[in-house]
Amino acid sequence: HPSDNFTSMLNDVQGPETCNTYNMLRLTKMLYQDSPETNFADYYERALYNHILASQEPEKGGFVYFTPMRPGHYRVYSQPETSMWCCVGSGLENHTKYGEFIYAHQKDTLYVNLFIPSQLTWKEKGVTLTQETRFPDDGKVTLRIDKAPKKGITLKIRQPQWTGHSKEYNVKINGKNEASIVEENSNYLTLHRKWKKGDVITFNLPMKVSLEQIPDKKDYYAFLYGPIVLAASTGTGHLDGLYADDSRGGHIAHGKQIPLQEVPMLIGNPESIRNSLHKKDDNQLIFTFDGNVYPAQNKTLELIPFFRLHNARYAIYFRQANEEQFKIIQKEMATAERKATELANQTVDLIFPGEQQPESDHGIQYEQAETGTNKDRHFRRTKGWFSYNLKVKEEAGRIRITIQKNDRNKVAILLNNNKLAVNPTISEADKDGFITLSWLLPQKLKSGSCPIRFTPDGTEWTPAIYEVRLLK
Ligand SMILES: [Zn+2]
Repeated sequence: HPSDNFTSMLNDVQGPETCNTYNMLRLTKMLYQDSPETNFADYYERALYNHILASQEPEKGGFVYFTPMRPGHYRVYSQPETSMWCCVGSGLENHTKYGEFIYAHQKDTLYVNLFIPSQLTWKEKGVTLTQETRFPDDGKVTLRIDKAPKKGITLKIRQPQWTGHSKEYNVKINGKNEASIVEENSNYLTLHRKWKKGDVITFNLPMKVSLEQIPDKKDYYAFLYGPIVLAASTGTGHLDGLYADDSRGGHIAHGKQIPLQEVPMLIGNPESIRNSLHKKDDNQLIFTFDGNVYPAQNKTLELIPFFRLHNARYAIYFRQANEEQFKIIQKEMATAERKATELANQTVDLIFPGEQQPESDHGIQYEQAETGTNKDRHFRRTKGWFSYNLKVKEEAGRIRITIQKNDRNKVAILLNNNKLAVNPTISEADKDGFITLSWLLPQKLKSGSCPIRFTPDGTEWTPAIYEVRLLK
């Protein structure tokens, strides 16, 4: 999607691929080796906890290909006997690499970049250092010198960007407060001395809830706790293909798409929304939202780290509206809902050209035809022909197709081998430039099936056709 428009990312059931982040971490590590700046470590930490750590199902061990950002959707896990996707190959590596990038060294300086329980042996300097922490469940970190170097070395402890570079780290060495030094433009707490075996350095990473707007600045927000993205479970219904089969699209979560307006929307301004999320207790990362939510939930909206949310639908980005915007949205939704219901009640049969299942359900046949997508909708067009069998489930008197307003190609339609009239009724364009062409049928269709065939009409191609709808 374009960097200034994330709409397609929010709508798509596909979305961030694990291999992409796998590669970004490799790239980040190389960039860091060129210039050891904390912004690379900040990115690495976010990507590691929020995507990589989230990409393995904890019980059966399956790997994730797509992590949809579509609110209310879900992800699919690989199985040993059905799936050997790229993200399974890189996935096997991902979860063996949590020891990488925690530490780095240059001359006499040791950098502590990540807060992960670990033991470091730096042979050349004769250093063994142990890091103990429950991060991100707790911001407290302990570094212990188990083997001291002969000469003095400098310890540089990363000050994450998400701490706002506050001075509240409360650094102690062997229990005594340490006035730590932060070098300008470095964002590392710098401690230099001749270390002794058994020296213990402790500090606290100040963790807090923050709210982050989607990068294109639309009205969608995500909650974070420190660097950890939080998510709400939105249920476990229709998780079709949760454990992937060996089909071509087995890695895609193809189950029902929950309409976006049914996913919780947060009502209020961003500041009040951020202040409405509270940590439930001291020991666990569970957060409750006590602000206004639409549609009203039957229980409190609860958020946990996304990397701990599995086998369920989820929301990471939440739509936000202030009270006045919300009143307008409600009116628009009611109108759209009414129109959709009316249309559904009038519909006898419906095909989405270019979509695999609806096309095969309607006996697609074609010559010199192609499919594609535009504005999140699938289409088919042809310079030969394509055809379907419409299912006449009840009496039908109208046929309607959807095309783009600016598509200058023309189409001839044969219904039951009779060509439809040249002049259809044309609708106004909707906000994405789609129009409908509709024809009143000379004779009503009663039952059974009815072939419909599309060919170009004096142009090389037909227009791209997005929808074919048989109406009462
Ligand atoms: Zn992949």
